[in-house]
Amino acid sequence: MKHFIQISDCHIDDAEQSMGVNTHQNLAHIIDKIAPMQSDALLISGDLTHHGTLTSYKKLKELLAPVQSNIFVLAGNHDNPHNLAAVFSACLFNTLSMGVWDIISVDSVQAKKTSGYLTKDVLLELDQQLANSQAKYILVVLHHPIVPMCSTWDDTLSLENPQDLFTVLDKHLKIQAVLFGHAHEAAEFERNGLKIIACPSTAVQFTDEKRIGFNHYTLNNNGHLEYKTQWI
Ligand SMILES: [Zn+2]
Repeated sequence: MKHFIQISDCHIDDAEQSMGVNTHQNLAHIIDKIAPMQSDALLISGDLTHHGTLTSYKKLKELLAPVQSNIFVLAGNHDNPHNLAAVFSACLFNTLSMGVWDIISVDSVQAKKTSGYLTKDVLLELDQQLANSQAKYILVVLHHPIVPMCSTWDDTLSLENPQDLFTVLDKHLKIQAVLFGHAHEAAEFERNGLKIIACPSTAVQFTDEKRIGFNHYTLNNNGHLEYKTQWI
């Protein structure tokens, strides 16, 4: 059995105040909560920073210092891939193995656009990674939502071509769930037995929810995935 924590959309900026809240302080509260928790990894699903500056990534690294488990990150539309890699190169990943599970990351970010798109190359690479995985069960993680959120969220800002993704995912029965952030809300959907899970923001939600939160997952050896959204 393995455990991991997903946080998302931290939006750390050079200034503490961003998006109407103190994103530094909010993330620090989340870190206080998760640092003592039992976890094999911390996954950050994009929008680590608000403007992608080098100093904001360095600040984020400082804020994450109390976390003892390995940290894995993927970029969101607010991130600067160059500056992200300069500070978090060791945390970027394609496949993360956790016992009998693999977590596979997919790059959905388009340059200078808020919405996401999966290019033919990205889809081909994903298909190959899924086919080559030795794991019994697989989770897929990307930044952008892949289903309508059925909320106040503007779905035109989500993944533009979810059907192309589903064409690949449907070929691989090991996939138990798809995780993402970007919409700044907690939500769960189901599609043909596949769990689709949105992780809340550590900064601010885009819904009426006033709390900040994160998801804690348990990966059982029998393929059963459990998770809980924890709010502060
Ligand atoms: Zn985003």
